[in-house]
Amino acid sequence: MNLSDKEKRYYSRQLPILKEKGQKKLKNKTVLIGGIGGIGSSAALSLARMGVGEIIIVDDDKVDLSNLNRQQLYSENDVGKPKTKIAKQKLEKINSNIDIKLINKKIDQNNIPHILDESIDAFIDGFDNIETRYVVNKRCMEKKIPYIHASCEGMEGRITLIIPNETPCLHCIYQGKKPRQKEPIPVMGFLPNKLGVMEAEQFYRFTFNLKTLKNKILIFSKDKMEPSILKIEKNKNCEICQET
Ligand SMILES: [Zn+2]
Repeated sequence: MNLSDKEKRYYSRQLPILKEKGQKKLKNKTVLIGGIGGIGSSAALSLARMGVGEIIIVDDDKVDLSNLNRQQLYSENDVGKPKTKIAKQKLEKINSNIDIKLINKKIDQNNIPHILDESIDAFIDGFDNIETRYVVNKRCMEKKIPYIHASCEGMEGRITLIIPNETPCLHCIYQGKKPRQKEPIPVMGFLPNKLGVMEAEQFYRFTFNLKTLKNKILIFSKDKMEPSILKIEKNKNCEICQET
């Protein structure tokens, strides 16, 4: 389907880069964002403005005042309301050319087959815990869905692009470990926001075959302005990669 006049105007600053063909390609994409907190909000805003045609948001949380130092989709008058509902309202106001779908659930082993399937072009990680990430990682490997992973704590943040069969999976990277996290996780708001934007960029780069963080992990830390980019390799003994 061709772009409407409204879409051509909305995307006019990026059409010289994407051309109509590229913009239509984005319009035909579906991404699923797991967790619409700090990282997820920021990713959703960038993906929506970019014109990704369908964004599915999965979360079962309600907005809390303590979210507001970082979670860009929410305001003080949203406190107590479901995050997914507020996120949909805000994103639809920002770009009415795209579809926002909601799944009001916490992802677990039982419901993941109903949530994540081949119709999803990429999974965007907005979670705050490794257990749920492992559940999604396994499903993404089985169904060959690209998984864009980001996480942060304090002033440390990391991001990588996982492509099934091609790059290390999350289990390869963290070896199935469940590092102890401080609860609640201390974090400066700019860090998840930066990582969410970078997740959207990874999706864009992957979609248009540009350089990505495949087989690399980018790490921000407190003591350095420039991020470190480390090469990562598949773990030959990874139980998830062997199974799938
Ligand atoms: Zn693996």
